[in-house]
Amino acid sequence: MAGRTVLPPMSEERNRAALPIEFVSSLLDKVEKPLIVAERNGNLLLVNARARQSLERYGYGEIKGSNLFNDILQVDAKQIFAQIESGAHEVEMLVEREGKRSTAKIQWMPEPDWVVMELENKSDAQASDPATQLTVQELLQEREITYRNLLAAYLKLQEVNRQKTVFLASAAHELKTPLAVIKGYYDLLLAGSLGRLTDKQQDILEESKDSCERLVRLVSMFLNYSALESGKLVLQLRENDLRDCLDELSKRWTEAFQRKGVKLDVNIDASIPTFRFDYQKVQQAAANLLDNSLKHTPTGGSVTLRAGPHFWERRVAALAPVEERRRFRLPRPNSVEVCVADTGPGIAAEHHQEIFEDFVRVDRNTSGMGLGLAIAKRLIQAHRGKIWVESEAQSGSRFTFLLPMDQG
Ligand code: ADP
Repeated sequence: MAGRTVLPPMSEERNRAALPIEFVSSLLDKVEKPLIVAERNGNLLLVNARARQSLERYGYGEIKGSNLFNDILQVDAKQIFAQIESGAHEVEMLVEREGKRSTAKIQWMPEPDWVVMELENKSDAQASDPATQLTVQELLQEREITYRNLLAAYLKLQEVNRQKTVFLASAAHELKTPLAVIKGYYDLLLAGSLGRLTDKQQDILEESKDSCERLVRLVSMFLNYSALESGKLVLQLRENDLRDCLDELSKRWTEAFQRKGVKLDVNIDASIPTFRFDYQKVQQAAANLLDNSLKHTPTGGSVTLRAGPHFWERRVAALAPVEERRRFRLPRPNSVEVCVADTGPGIAAEHHQEIFEDFVRVDRNTSGMGLGLAIAKRLIQAHRGKIWVESEAQSGSRFTFLLPMDQG
């Protein structure tokens, strides 16, 4: 048996796909084998065309947002990694679904900490002609080399992307101190400490201070993003009260909503129990949603922040084996749903996915860097939760995230 493999601590953010994921994905579509690439926690990164066909054939529904271990293989990831840690180069397991059997071959790639799974349909494999098998084998090997080269090129691009982020982060950091000084002087002037101001002077200074605060928000948004990009996302999981977390947040935002004349309704279910989550990070995710809703809702409109216990079916799949799931339902909600709905202009369906990507902005009339939702998505996914939007153009937007209550 080969020597033991030591898995490094799991990093949620380190290997998240950056800009060219569609590019790599379309190239992998050319590979004839059904291939699935996922992060170590099972979050899907790439599913090539053959794999999508196979999954469809096996009756898997929507795979977007699925987890390789929980939803596709329906296996405890620990079992797979135990074999890898004890030296297995490849873990093979039988997958049976809707009467069809296939073999899943799972490999762990230490760099970049990815799991690569190849699916082989049993009947396909048995039906193939032994005379052609060698050629097919050769072809597959060739393709495997191509695909590994592609992954290497992709990683290189990621590194360049990382260096760019580090550079921009240091520039943003340099801006932080002078902006804090400018804001301090505005406060001093507006408080009248340096002499009485005329009404006109007061108005101009207040407007300048608003602009300065906007700039501070942009810089700090970028710094948050670059911290996440450089892999510094470490969750401080503690037993916390989500009601306090969201209450505190809504109080902080009340004044800004009043200033713009937008009504803020807060409805937080008193029955949400305490559970383990990172207080600051969840608050930041919700703050980004509130910030957007205020930005996009015109005066006279309204925004609702709602939170309540939720029964998340998919999470049950991760916790209980299939047979058990059929027999009983979990008696208690296993997650919390947080929702920010507004009466703003809404978002056309074709943008619902891309707005969660880095630097994507649809509305060019408002200020921003296209990072608020990308940051929120990372923070929620780090908690093994999910976030999405429901909206139609001209009829408001509803952003929702789910947080599982069973954080380890
Ligand atoms: P930013 O706000 O900095 O542009 P975000 O990542 O927060 O970046 O949002 C990305 C895009 O999503 C925005 O440019 C905007 O077009 C759209 N968006 C986000 N929230 C809303 C909302 N509540 N109503 C309408 N559009 C929104």
